[in-house]
Amino acid sequence: MAYPPLVNPPAPRELLYEGKAKQVFATDDPRQVVVRFKDDATAFNAEKRGTVAGKGEVNNAVTALLYGELEDFGVPTHFLELLGPRDQLVERVRIVPVEVIVRNRTAGTFAKRYGVEEGLPLDPNVIEFCLKSDALQDPPMNAATAVALGHATEEELEELFDLAASVNDYLVARFAVAGLDLVDFKLEFGVDADGRMVLADEISPDTCRLWDAETGEKLDKDRFRRDLGGVEEAYQEVRRRLEATVGADLDLPDFDADDHDHEHHHEESADA
Ligand code: UDP
Repeated sequence: MAYPPLVNPPAPRELLYEGKAKQVFATDDPRQVVVRFKDDATAFNAEKRGTVAGKGEVNNAVTALLYGELEDFGVPTHFLELLGPRDQLVERVRIVPVEVIVRNRTAGTFAKRYGVEEGLPLDPNVIEFCLKSDALQDPPMNAATAVALGHATEEELEELFDLAASVNDYLVARFAVAGLDLVDFKLEFGVDADGRMVLADEISPDTCRLWDAETGEKLDKDRFRRDLGGVEEAYQEVRRRLEATVGADLDLPDFDADDHDHEHHHEESADA
């Protein structure tokens, strides 16, 4: 992918924060930070550690591509510019400590928790909140708990829910044209300097389960978690397929502008 030449590319200054898969640097503008994507991988709350060659570049490129498209779809994000192979410029936000998980099929922790096999379609899809806390292993948390413990307001949670439903509507269709089945994914949101709730963090094979639509082959972090091999190749393949389908027509659900009821029933209903 080519990077547009910037007149004054913002330089990363001091390291503000280092997480498991990313570093965050200050810039000369207090409202903007640089996110650098690393090749480091962790799973099972950092019990399993490793590196996946090229992962940082894939996740940077995939996140930039999808956040640009989501902005066009009407979802506000923190993304500003791609700066280089591993770096992107984003708005500085206050991260809401609530992770939002969207599930279109059973998998992972959900399948274990409810004693069901993986891959069962979920209709309606399921949107869950978890407390963002590595120390507590991101425990699931209902809305009342999040509000009562002061992690978010009721209005913020409603916003997270509606935004997550819109992101899912877009991503299911977007990954489908790339021959990928979006099984589940995790989102994080932040409040920007103007008080706007925006999509933050990343959307990548680290944070999504993506299965080949034809064969069911796993093309995501489960290859690392479960020692399936071919991890690097799977990440590259997701990037390749997304880049090859930029601008393709998407089969998006039609819904009223302010009716985000996150249901996917459209053409095939009643009189189809
Ligand atoms: N996920 C994530 N970060 C987390 C927890 C989950 O990115 O801290 C993603 C995960 O990759 C999957 C989805 O959210 O795509 C649902 O994960 P689940 O709750 O099933 O947990 P897991 O089985 O991944 O531990």
